[in-house]
Amino acid sequence: MELASPSKGLSLPTKILLGLVLGAVAGVTLNVLYAPPLGQPATGTYAGVVAFADGVVKPLGDLFLSLLFMVVVPVVFSSLFLGVAGLGSVGKLGSLGGRTLLWFLVTTSVAVLLGLLLVNWFEPGRAVTPEVAAQIKAQYAGDASKRIGQSQQATGWVQMLVDIVPRNVVAAAADNGKVLGLIFFALVLGAAAIRAPREKTKPLCDLCEALYDLCVRVLGWVMQLAPYGVACLIFHATAKLGLDVLKLVSLYFATAMGGLIVYQMVGITLLAKAFAGIAPGRFYRGCRTLIVTAFSTSSSNATLPTTIRTATDEFGVPKEIAGFVMPLGATMNMNGTALFEGVSVLFMAQVAGVDLSLGQHALVVGMAVLTAIGAAGVPGGSIPLLAIVLTQVGVPPEFLALILGVDRLVDMTRTVPNVTSDLVCSLWLARREGVALKA
Ligand code: ASP
Repeated sequence: MELASPSKGLSLPTKILLGLVLGAVAGVTLNVLYAPPLGQPATGTYAGVVAFADGVVKPLGDLFLSLLFMVVVPVVFSSLFLGVAGLGSVGKLGSLGGRTLLWFLVTTSVAVLLGLLLVNWFEPGRAVTPEVAAQIKAQYAGDASKRIGQSQQATGWVQMLVDIVPRNVVAAAADNGKVLGLIFFALVLGAAAIRAPREKTKPLCDLCEALYDLCVRVLGWVMQLAPYGVACLIFHATAKLGLDVLKLVSLYFATAMGGLIVYQMVGITLLAKAFAGIAPGRFYRGCRTLIVTAFSTSSSNATLPTTIRTATDEFGVPKEIAGFVMPLGATMNMNGTALFEGVSVLFMAQVAGVDLSLGQHALVVGMAVLTAIGAAGVPGGSIPLLAIVLTQVGVPPEFLALILGVDRLVDMTRTVPNVTSDLVCSLWLARREGVALKA
């Protein structure tokens, strides 16, 4: 099924882009015209705007998100199972898996290093005076303590590894934060299918094939609603955007956004050219819907079916490879998140007046890579884990309040390289297998 429907005037990707622009313009305009200064309650017209955004627009946006999330569990299971079972040999699973993990680790580390370079260069934390910090913290203290509470529930590293193996796979699938458990089960079951006689596994393979195809069909319907869903999501985010906070932490915002944009436009583009032989123009033409979906949903998981479809339909990646790489990538490979974590931790350390040694920088790199792997691919999924990294380097996690006011936009932006890196990984692996990509 095609993502574009050229017969009816505008193509779907163009309509989605239009929804994004219109939603953003409407939200920003209302915010600029009516939002009160930092610390003041919403009254008059702005109270009406907030009530409309929260009461009408957000539920509509959430509905679109839920429709996308709805197909994630069956898609993760069926695509991974079929992907592994279709590899044909456990040795091939090992080499494909090894290369995939290598890609995840290397690209994520490069992204954090870029973030650290930028934050040490621009020193955005030095631009925030103690008064400004106190003002922002007062406004976002409640939200910060809620997120810190979530981080206390987040378990330590050993437990995180133990949790990869689910005691109850149904419970793991039901818990957004534990998709890794479902992934593990699908991988093991797929590996077992490689070894089992073909006639025994055929019914399950056929079932998964049918389930996967139907989910893709449902996704096609859901994506028809994307122009409206995207408009609602972006309107809600921008109408409630703390523009005052944005001004106060503008250097942080510029560093994080600048880093993410450079990583996407230079880093990912170069990787696509170097490892998959795809020219930039072709790459971005094929990725339009993927990028807008990731940006507006802020969620690698919600974008997963679109990521798979982009790889297979737009670039010709075989189903087994896309089905293997993408569910893993949506959960484990978050280049943008790691870059953002590096920038944010050092920014907060600068504001808190904590000087980090070279060893602590190395710790931040390691922790950012690990927490990016552990973060759930949902909006704000990395924030509770960021609180853990802060504690490790001696920055009070309450400083999270400083970035929460502008995090939605940063989250939307970091989700884009999170998913495009998965896409390039699958392109690379397909090319290595000798597949002629649609370049
Ligand atoms: N929103 C990101 C994603 O889903 C995760 C995060 O950085 O919070 O990829």
